[in-house]
Amino acid sequence: MNKKINIKQLVRENVAELKPYSSARDEYVSDGSKMIFLDANENPFENGVNRYPDPQQRSLKQVLAEQKEVSTKNILLGNGSDEVLDLIFRAFCEPKVDNIITLPPTYGMYKVLANINNVEEKEVLLTEDFEPNSEKILKAVNQHTKIIFLCSPNNPTGNSFSEESIITILGNFNGLVVIDEAYIDFSKKESWLKKIKEYPNLLVTQTLSKAYGLAGIRLGICYASEEVIDILNKIKPPYNVNELTQLRALERVLNQNQVRLEVSKILEERKSLFTVLKEIPFVQEVYHSDANFILAKVDDANKRYAQLLEMGIVIRNRTTQPLCENTLRFTVGTEEENKKLIEALMRL
Ligand SMILES: *Cc1c(COP(=O)(O)O)cnc(C)c1O
Repeated sequence: MNKKINIKQLVRENVAELKPYSSARDEYVSDGSKMIFLDANENPFENGVNRYPDPQQRSLKQVLAEQKEVSTKNILLGNGSDEVLDLIFRAFCEPKVDNIITLPPTYGMYKVLANINNVEEKEVLLTEDFEPNSEKILKAVNQHTKIIFLCSPNNPTGNSFSEESIITILGNFNGLVVIDEAYIDFSKKESWLKKIKEYPNLLVTQTLSKAYGLAGIRLGICYASEEVIDILNKIKPPYNVNELTQLRALERVLNQNQVRLEVSKILEERKSLFTVLKEIPFVQEVYHSDANFILAKVDDANKRYAQLLEMGIVIRNRTTQPLCENTLRFTVGTEEENKKLIEALMRL
């Protein structure tokens, strides 16, 4: 473990000194008992959502904590991972002073959030085989580097990063390391969230938007040391996860059998799509995927993208991304959807 890390020194000064807003529901949450709540200026006529939601999402966190074998104090929930990532920026990165490092080709939101927060984004390209270049990454670090973003399995490349390079970064960087595991449930690799006890500067983000099939409710999760979670809690909007989202999320995480069933179907489809893509004459390379999408290199991405669109199939053209020239990203759909995709590809 790296002893030089002091989370308190990484926090923005105004955040360290901030006294958070205390809402009525921070003091008392209804536990179904017959208390009379006249504290939050709500409409008293019950309709299921007339009360403010639990600002700490206790029921949902309790279930997640048990499933992931962490404490509820190691969990922060947000309005999608996008909010969680934004909170991390706002807690730790001083605008116009601090910087962060991303590893393109990767998820576009890190850069957008850096821009919104007026924080410099340094880019260190992945290697040709889409692995982090830990030596170059550590060289790019300076005294104002607060966060390194690792997306594993990575979007849009689909691969998981090697344990070795992640350990090297974690062990040699004195800022925060965020590992975005949006696609972890499609991978056989173990989540890094077990390591938050070992590394106080490690943040692992997950989401219910992909494997859990709840992109529409917006529920993102951050697992980290209690110290980091306390800081993020201080600055989050009190009611950032609404009641409907908390209810639907709880129902879904308690139904692991259904989630597993859907994931295994998606994995089966990923396998057959992978095989077929390799046989398509204009496909030059199909990259290994630990996620619910497949990246493939084709002869002319713009042309093939337009042709598929013409046939009513929308995929993602990644050709403008570094190291991704002439690549297309295919999300794995249902069996019927994939059949239609394959038929269309065969006709081109
Ligand atoms: C889809 C995706 C997310 C999910 O973001 P939400 O805001 O939780 O929907 C996060 N990270 C990556 C890399 C993704 O591809």
